[in-house]
Amino acid sequence: MKLGCIADDFTGATDLANNLVRAGMRVVQTIGVPDDAATLDVDAVVVALKSRTTPPEDAVRQSLAACRWLRRGGATQIYFKVCSTFDSTPRGNIGPVLEALMDELGCDFTIATPAFPDNARTVFKGHLFVGDVLLSESGMRDHPLTPMTDANLVRVLQAQLATTRSGGNAGRRVGLVDHRATGASAAAIGARFAALRDEGVAIAIADAIDNDDLHRLGEAVRDLPLVCAGSGLAIGLPRNFAITASGEAATLPAVQGFSAIVSGSCSQATNAQVTEFLRGGGAARRIDPLELADADDAKLCADIAAWAVREWSAASERPVLVYSTAPPQAVAAAQAQASAHDVGARLERLLAAIARALVERGARRLVVAGGETSGACVQALGIERLRIGRQIDPGVPWCHAAPTLAPDGLQLALKSGNFGAVDFFRRAFAAPT
Ligand code: ADP
Repeated sequence: MKLGCIADDFTGATDLANNLVRAGMRVVQTIGVPDDAATLDVDAVVVALKSRTTPPEDAVRQSLAACRWLRRGGATQIYFKVCSTFDSTPRGNIGPVLEALMDELGCDFTIATPAFPDNARTVFKGHLFVGDVLLSESGMRDHPLTPMTDANLVRVLQAQLATTRSGGNAGRRVGLVDHRATGASAAAIGARFAALRDEGVAIAIADAIDNDDLHRLGEAVRDLPLVCAGSGLAIGLPRNFAITASGEAATLPAVQGFSAIVSGSCSQATNAQVTEFLRGGGAARRIDPLELADADDAKLCADIAAWAVREWSAASERPVLVYSTAPPQAVAAAQAQASAHDVGARLERLLAAIARALVERGARRLVVAGGETSGACVQALGIERLRIGRQIDPGVPWCHAAPTLAPDGLQLALKSGNFGAVDFFRRAFAAPT
């Protein structure tokens, strides 16, 4: 292992892993910190945590455990992956985790940049833009857990550091590597790092408005023990380890079996994808929370699995779809009967049990739509690590796992709600892996 990555949420981890694979690295994503010391024959490992909105002490504890595991595995550089909209609150968790990792690694200087130009996240003069608007004017300002009301990342990060939170004025300071350096050359960025260090700056927000900026930045951070970024910076790091883009890194072991889709996402993109699948005559079973009431989930699960087996024996190549995906009015109707949390949790449990039943009956290529739904399915399938393969659509790669339930191997694509083009399901199964 060369590069060790710590991601503060699950789909963010996959997004980072996907970018590393595209830049030529062989990558495994682990679900949480593995408890074994197995050495993995890959270039990078991304440890997926669920630490974005937990209490800061908990995020620090998890992140340090991940950092220690990665370093034991041979990682020479640690990449702390945060959201491309820098999702956090004045308490953290980006600042506290970054400071704890700096202490752990004895690192006196690092950078932070959420820039991901391919996804319209750019940083200029330390200000984060989402598309053409400032972060603070984007939808993120109304986020239920991490409302982002200030686009000035130097200020946002400074507010999260221990020294600021305790009201002191000694301690780490945040500065800026602006576009005059990142737009020029790795040497200019290096000179700016040196100047900031002389001024006593410990963490630098770095501007990046296009991929060339990220490549220059990638070269400049070569010797830093720690970097903090969205998934964008990943495109510029593999070259530091003498790795160049090649299709080989994305090649996954072949699998033999049936194909299925489980969809619990109610996002606009997923609704369109389900509609398109039905329009094309695909085999599908809908789960309506209003009809579930006291239904026996185990019985429903067995019934759906038996239906899938009948479909596969009629046409073994065809994927089956099981979905609770519904338009906003239907979601509101379900939530009028029980709390949003209860409806969601029940459906996640049910869909995860269905995914498990389908794999038990021979499904070996499985698409799951929905971030939370994916988390529930991965857990129900007993998956602890995923090898990352070829991208189907931006941010959604095929992955390979070999859990106890399917020791011969299983391919999975975990699609977060709004990702993927309208014909995603058809193309996913047509795509080579
Ligand atoms: P996304 O990535 O699109 O946000 P998630 O899986 O993260 O998808 O979240 C969708 C949530 O909505 C889950 O908790 C899921 O169980 C719930 N859900 C799915 N279908 C319905 C429905 N028909 N009515 C109400 N809630 C639903």
